[in-house]
Amino acid sequence: EEGSAGREAGYWRLSKLAVPARDDPGKDFAGVSPPLLQAVAKALKFPVASMLPEEAFSVIRKSFDARKILKEPQFVYTVDVDVKKLLDMEPRTWDFIARLEPKLGTIEYMPDEKVQSDLISMINVHKQGSDDELGINGTVSNGSTCSPQKKPRVAVIGSGPSGLFASLVLGELGAEVTLLERGQPVEQRGRDIGALAVRRILHSESNFCFGEGGAGTWSDGKLVTRIGRNTDGVQAVMKTFVHFGAPPNILVDGKPHLGTDKLIPLLWNFRHHLEELGVTIRFNTRVDDLIVEGGQVKGVIVSDSRLQLGSVNQTLSFDAVVLAVGHSARDTYSMLLRHNVAMNPKSFAVGLRIEHPQELINNIQYSELAAEVHKGRGRIPVADYKIVKSVGEGDVELSEQNRSCYSFCMCPGGQVVLTSTNPSELCINGMSFSRRASKWANSALVATVSSHDFKPFESHRSLAGVEFQREFERRAAIMGGGNFVVPAQCVTDFLSNRLSVTTLPPSSYRLGVCPSKLHELFPPHITEALQQSIIMIDEEMPGFVSREALLHGVETRTSSPLQISRNNVTYESTSLQGLYPIGEGAGYAGGIVSASVDGMFCGFALAKQLSLFHGDI
Ligand code: FAD
Repeated sequence: EEGSAGREAGYWRLSKLAVPARDDPGKDFAGVSPPLLQAVAKALKFPVASMLPEEAFSVIRKSFDARKILKEPQFVYTVDVDVKKLLDMEPRTWDFIARLEPKLGTIEYMPDEKVQSDLISMINVHKQGSDDELGINGTVSNGSTCSPQKKPRVAVIGSGPSGLFASLVLGELGAEVTLLERGQPVEQRGRDIGALAVRRILHSESNFCFGEGGAGTWSDGKLVTRIGRNTDGVQAVMKTFVHFGAPPNILVDGKPHLGTDKLIPLLWNFRHHLEELGVTIRFNTRVDDLIVEGGQVKGVIVSDSRLQLGSVNQTLSFDAVVLAVGHSARDTYSMLLRHNVAMNPKSFAVGLRIEHPQELINNIQYSELAAEVHKGRGRIPVADYKIVKSVGEGDVELSEQNRSCYSFCMCPGGQVVLTSTNPSELCINGMSFSRRASKWANSALVATVSSHDFKPFESHRSLAGVEFQREFERRAAIMGGGNFVVPAQCVTDFLSNRLSVTTLPPSSYRLGVCPSKLHELFPPHITEALQQSIIMIDEEMPGFVSREALLHGVETRTSSPLQISRNNVTYESTSLQGLYPIGEGAGYAGGIVSASVDGMFCGFALAKQLSLFHGDI
């Protein structure tokens, strides 16, 4: 009985529960199946699995594991056991519960109630519990004091994930938020992207990078993150996605993803909620400048981004400005430089995007089980891969000899898309729909680059990484011969430094590919690192180097080429008061989830400074 002392409530978390793939109901089922109950019974040392009450168990993570070292592919689960429910329903389990002991990494006891809510519900609970009159007596960090009853006015520049979450938190907590977005709402943005794919018309302000939802809208919508899946911040963001219409299985999937078709309705719901909160959303509104007085931001100057010439500037005053512009707003970076905002070059990665037939990747990863994928409709997920290789002498240090090379933003069942924001600069990325049903698998293969690589491009130190990106995007545009045609090369020819002379394998890229000497695009040390890593990947995934694999150029915008210095607690710029740089463009996030989390925490930090919020979330 001692083991269970004080453990008559709360949860036991059982992890690493394996169910062979042949017995599992499949990737779309997140309930407790009989084979899973067997695995649970084994972990609990309970003799008759069928006697365990299913209702006491909930699946909190389900991943597919087809690594070659396993005897057979399996689904791996993490399951929570609600102790109280279990004991109420099945008194015979007392003994087993009493004997349970935490075991490192597999059985864990959690005495607390689970926090089940999304961000909006959490804030509402906080508001109900707070005695404060929200929005009253707000004092802004830039020294101006809001008069009683007057809500503090906050501009959020950019409606990508970070800007949306900052707007949500600030709007919920009572700030008067204006969300300024240079691009179009998703309805029109979809038409603009269609015009690009079909008629080769690139709208410089409404494209794969700019517009409602930011860079991640026409994407694979992968919701994986390196900042800790179970952290409160990530959980709050994921639950908020579900609140706005994302399928609840994203909370359970080991590698959750949405796909463009699921992201768009989510953004409509997000937008409508912000509008209901009173957030003013201005699309087609580009912030061209900041109004700075005495070292403090007092407002912004905006123009109508649809008008090329003759656009009338408008001046808007704010108490604080959140800068959530993403990493493609190079004009905004230049504007910040004019205001001497402290920024530093940051390492990122550049390379090429490789595309294989999805069937080939399924076969490499799954062998016989590949037949069960059925274009995303089968029991087994469409195969992906994630590979990191250290190339050269020593570890992952950044010098010409040592580089980390890795696959990035792998899109199973996806397509290669153009992410340029300017016709003379060509860059690409990948996207997919929720089913991942296309016949192609694409992924960037990139090598890390750092300030050492940017040296020849140091027209201004803090923008050296931007210049470095631009140089290779221009080269790629020239190599492709214009009209958004992408330079391409068979991977086998890239490894032998020769132009592909036979017909190129088909590509998912809609605007055309042309045979090119991609091995001459980057400096030799980057090309060699990519070549070495491809050979190493083929050792791990035999068949990866294939005549059917096509490299596309160029992948440059993997993450921000700079970081805008900010205070870690207040999120305020260290050089300009009243400016709050967040998200990927500021160098503090990489991906949809981490950008959302950064926006959310900035929202709370700023709300505290505005005296709108006093708690801890
Ligand atoms: P962004 O999403 O870049 O948003 C910035 C917004 O600011 C844009 O809407 C822009 O129009 C606006 N803006 C810029 N300058 C101004 C200005 N001066 N005035 C007004 N508005 C301005 N990440 C994943 O996690 N999973 C994926 O599967 C994935 N796939 C991707 C596929 C593609 C094709 C692309 C391009 C990116 C993908 N990413 C993916 C990366 C992800 O989209 C970004 O990490 C994320 O969107 C960054 O969020 P953010 O809010 O920091 O900036």
